[in-house]
Amino acid sequence: MTVYNFSAGPAVMPKPVIDQIQREMPSFNDSGMSILEISHRSTLFENVLNDAKQNIKDLMHVPDNYHILFCQGGGTGQFAAVPLNLANRREKIAFLDSGHWNKKAYQEAEQLGYGIDVIKENGQLPYPSDNFDETLYDYLHVTINNTIEGSTYHPNHLPNVKDIPLVGDMSSNFMAESYDVNDFGLIFAGAQKNLAPAGLTIVIVRDDLIDPAKHIPTILNYEAYAKKNSMFNTPPVFPIYAAKLTTQWLLDNGGIAEMEKRDIQKSGMLYDYLDQSKLFHNNVKKDERSYTNIVFTTNDDDLDAQFVDFAADHDLISLKGHRSIGGLRASLYNAMPVEGVEKLIDVLTKFEQTRG
Ligand code: PLP
Repeated sequence: MTVYNFSAGPAVMPKPVIDQIQREMPSFNDSGMSILEISHRSTLFENVLNDAKQNIKDLMHVPDNYHILFCQGGGTGQFAAVPLNLANRREKIAFLDSGHWNKKAYQEAEQLGYGIDVIKENGQLPYPSDNFDETLYDYLHVTINNTIEGSTYHPNHLPNVKDIPLVGDMSSNFMAESYDVNDFGLIFAGAQKNLAPAGLTIVIVRDDLIDPAKHIPTILNYEAYAKKNSMFNTPPVFPIYAAKLTTQWLLDNGGIAEMEKRDIQKSGMLYDYLDQSKLFHNNVKKDERSYTNIVFTTNDDDLDAQFVDFAADHDLISLKGHRSIGGLRASLYNAMPVEGVEKLIDVLTKFEQTRG
């Protein structure tokens, strides 16, 4: 039985990666021990961590003046860690108001006592607008892909700041689109959508933004991670191992450019269907539509719920929209095969024929 999992995260992983994990589970690298058991202080694991880091560096062309850190605490942990590490040089932090996860980020900064400004989008590029005064802010925090609302700042529409760092929350399109790391002061992403099981958070940070004089909790302190190769305490061994395998799979399959091509193709098939459907609708502006999280609705809560059940009966799982906005959502991460999208369109069509 083939089940297609459209969950926004934890989410679908590449089948060859799952198979490899299964093969290697009883005895990792002929050690006689499972990866679940080996010490993070062993050379065996250190090699895994260094390989995962190198793969990320190669895939994203991370320049040498950036650190790649393996943290815990998810995107939510970074909502606290980023201001604690980067703020206080100027008056305030700027947040580009794009939806649920941006709001969570500025609420966290605010409750930590930082001054914030929420910059409203006016629907016109550039974001932020020309009268945005960078001198007031330590950095601009942008949710690069809005997982819940289904919109994205694609690489050609990246918010533009000249003299302050851009902080990008890439939790839901990490390694799905070709961003230039040089455009950012810091990128973070929870691994559980496009890379590995939950428990690992990737932070890519320019080295001049790491402040050795900060007195903040060690578990959130980038300096501590950078100095000790992300191993000042016990790192999440299994998710790092899975991230190594997924990044290897990405390298073997054409890298991020190829993933982006496939993601545009897969999401394009679904958007094409939705645009001609009389029953299902997507209301995101065309040039902002996400390639990884496609939101849609019949505009009728009961009918949406009926579709979730109908889809589950056809082995299509987790199509319910986020509880904060309802509706429906199909997450099409790198590991979702095109066959999954074809089947989804087929089932949407059937549902529309019977209920529309
Ligand atoms: N940022 C974005 C864009 C997300 O989609 C999510 C979760 O879905 C988060 C942050 C929060 O991540 P976590 O659950 O890892 O704390």
